[in-house]
Amino acid sequence: MSAASGGVEIPENVQHFLAGSRRSIVIDGDRRESQGGETFETVDPATGEILGELAAASEADVDAAVRSSHRAFEEEWRDLKPAARGRCLIRLADLIESNIDELAALETLDNGKPLTESLYVDLSIAAETYRYYGGWATKLAGQVLPVSPVVGSAFVYTRREPLGVVAAIVPWNFPMLLTSWKLGPALAAGNTVVLKPSPETSLTAIRLAELALEAGFPPGVLNVVTGAGGPGAALVRHPLVTKVSFTGSTETGRRVLADTVPSLKQVHLELGGKSPNIIFADADLDSAVQGAYLGIFFNQGEVCCAGSRVYVQQAVYDQVVADLADNAKRIQLGHGLADGTEMGPLVSPAHLRRVEGFVERAAEEGATILCGGSRAGGGLEAGNFYLPTLIADAGAQMEIVREEVFGPVVVVLPFDDEEEVVRLANDSRYGLAAGIWTRDLARAHRTAAALQAGTVWINAYNVLDPSTPFGGYKESGFGRDLGEEALLHYTQTKCVWVQLD
Ligand code: NAD
Repeated sequence: MSAASGGVEIPENVQHFLAGSRRSIVIDGDRRESQGGETFETVDPATGEILGELAAASEADVDAAVRSSHRAFEEEWRDLKPAARGRCLIRLADLIESNIDELAALETLDNGKPLTESLYVDLSIAAETYRYYGGWATKLAGQVLPVSPVVGSAFVYTRREPLGVVAAIVPWNFPMLLTSWKLGPALAAGNTVVLKPSPETSLTAIRLAELALEAGFPPGVLNVVTGAGGPGAALVRHPLVTKVSFTGSTETGRRVLADTVPSLKQVHLELGGKSPNIIFADADLDSAVQGAYLGIFFNQGEVCCAGSRVYVQQAVYDQVVADLADNAKRIQLGHGLADGTEMGPLVSPAHLRRVEGFVERAAEEGATILCGGSRAGGGLEAGNFYLPTLIADAGAQMEIVREEVFGPVVVVLPFDDEEEVVRLANDSRYGLAAGIWTRDLARAHRTAAALQAGTVWINAYNVLDPSTPFGGYKESGFGRDLGEEALLHYTQTKCVWVQLD
């Protein structure tokens, strides 16, 4: 071990990996530099120190990656027995678990999140997701259809066939976790994948591609191109890519969708959110406050389904707000690899400025900053640390109530009754998730049905399972990650009609 980032020890295997980071494009099992030699830096967001230089993929690199994945699809993966595909995915899950310390350290260094979250959320759930879809590979079946032909009789069945090369484009907030949500179902269904991680957090994707080879995936089944929007757009437009599975901001999602129109590719968009977390006066308030706290401050608030609008019924508003502020003030910020850290830095200086801008404009518009509302001091100035922030007295039309901040910033809003809160909660262009806290069973189900969101949690928040479909209503996107539904998104249906007489 040696001290390498802000006084925090970086494990030796991680240092070794970082030393070779320039060869970050993975094609046909080989790690390569960009053909044009262009690079970009990846930085520890807690210290501003450069972790490594990565290859900025050119159009030629993207083309080589797609062609390799296309060859792997046509010549190997598509026709491999389902059981063999499933075994590769399950072995990948095992390898993630046996290399979890290294992968979690890489994720924390690159993204900033506390190591415990990388270990017990990102990597653990990623492994479970690959294992879950490994099981599905042998259960993806068509149907026999009870047809009534005009003449004679017929035997008709459907086949669920893979699409071909999938472009998987992911953001920086849960790099390995969100990658598993795409790779698991895509690979189980017999597709090959070119993965484009975010330029902020590409390190674990490169390591994952190495582990995939070790797990037995043939070269080319999973290729990785690193870089910013350029290689992303080149992938989306590539004629041999048949499906784009994108997770990111609503703004970029719109561009991705437009870029797929000329070639009519299948698209799946998992986008932003401004999710309501609703606390009724009859709720178990300790659990509700804890749920509201984790709903916004987990992962620095850089969570697509963060409960960033907390609606509290008038009778308990003052108490809930006081408890939430109390908890927020006690959060320990620090380097993700340091002991005791509960919240890390935001991912980049640009994102820090963006978050800061939202809070400044909220204050200018007349909202009250109850706690936080500034960068952190106390020796953390070199990193992108922002204090957990609670905002009150915001009008329904204010930017802070309507737009996604994607940071540790929550707006608390009072309401009188169920009808009003459903109307306020649904008054959003987003519809990713929502939370309801109440002891009234009938009201819980009534409200769940009325909310316009892809996921509704009752007396819980931010909980997911590989079997639970996750995705958005409205401008939060379309299509679903996870569950059987995601698997079907990576297939196309062929109907075979056999005339019998
Ligand atoms: P982003 O939209 O800036 O980037 C996402 C990915 O798209 C990155 O890999 C980026 O390099 C790539 N990209 C950029 N321009 C592109 C283009 N023109 N064509 C193709 N790819 C392009 O998002 P971000 O800042 O990395 O992530 C934060 C956003 O992601 C938030 O809005 C958050 O809500 C959303 N998100 C959604 C979910 C979900 O499941 N709905 C999950 C996590 C994050």
